[in-house]
Amino acid sequence: MSPPFSWIRPEPWGIHIVPADAWVDPSRPVSRALVTHGHADHARGGHGTTIATPATLAIMELRYQTREGASPVEYGETVAIGGGVTATYLPAGHVLGSAQILLERAGERVVITGDYKRSADPTCAPFEVTPCDIFITEATFGLPVFTHPPIGEEIGKLLEAREENPDACILVGAYALGKAQRVIAELRAAGHTDTIWLHGAMEAMCRLYEAHGVPLGDLRLVSEATKDQMRGHIVMAPPSALGDRWSRRLPDPVTAMASGWMRVRQRARQRGVELPLVISDHADWGELTRTIGEVNPQETWITHGREEALLRWCQLNQRRARALALVGYEDEDD
Ligand SMILES: [Zn+2]
Ligand SMILES: [Zn+2]
Repeated sequence: MSPPFSWIRPEPWGIHIVPADAWVDPSRPVSRALVTHGHADHARGGHGTTIATPATLAIMELRYQTREGASPVEYGETVAIGGGVTATYLPAGHVLGSAQILLERAGERVVITGDYKRSADPTCAPFEVTPCDIFITEATFGLPVFTHPPIGEEIGKLLEAREENPDACILVGAYALGKAQRVIAELRAAGHTDTIWLHGAMEAMCRLYEAHGVPLGDLRLVSEATKDQMRGHIVMAPPSALGDRWSRRLPDPVTAMASGWMRVRQRARQRGVELPLVISDHADWGELTRTIGEVNPQETWITHGREEALLRWCQLNQRRARALALVGYEDEDD
């Protein structure tokens, strides 16, 4: 008999499910990939077969212009992937279509969270706590200093800035997959019904969200607006557009940025952000530690971020843990 959990092996470029010869979120092309969600550091193109939720596959199709090898799995559905291993996809609460993957073999259970968060998000299904033996968790914000405020507070700051600047626009930098749609949906939930103006790079992803049942209200393109039309309005753009020539067409923009990193003042200053909004799609320190407690695994494997502090926390709490050294996972999606 093989030793427990020898069928799952972390390699630098992904988690290898050995008897199925499949990989979870591999950072290089493989013959069979299980993909947790659509952010580029998890969902690379070029795999032979990609097993993912329908929304994640749609996001990958939009980005890579191909559906070749797409193999859809619904939330809660269990598929046999070979070598006696099954995979069940469960909501991760991170972005539209994001999943944790529960792998089972001969009674052994492993959960890979991908990226996740516990706070409510109107654009995706909430994280489900799933009991398992090995819990492989992300740790993007794995330091006690990272506490994300309630999103309502940050949306309130944005709406206030808009009130205070009726002749200007508020330019919000946000990642095109997930963050932008969440900010828009939260603005709508707060009663903001005005047109929100979009950078062209965000349009297709917003339409994809709407096609998957996430209404975003009146969205229009900056390229079709006059300066005066945008005065007193909110404009959304990818972070890379904040400082570039593109923003010159806007009426006296007040620059905001929605990111978990806005907790770090220096990062906001470096980017020239006047209105930092601490809005993250990742678990903060409190959520990471609470989730480990609730899942209560025999062992926790930590990846994708600041592993050391969470490792230390596990040890102090008499929990077995190890840090994995995966490479190629950047913070596209903070
Ligand atoms: Zn990630
Ligand atoms: Zn992500």
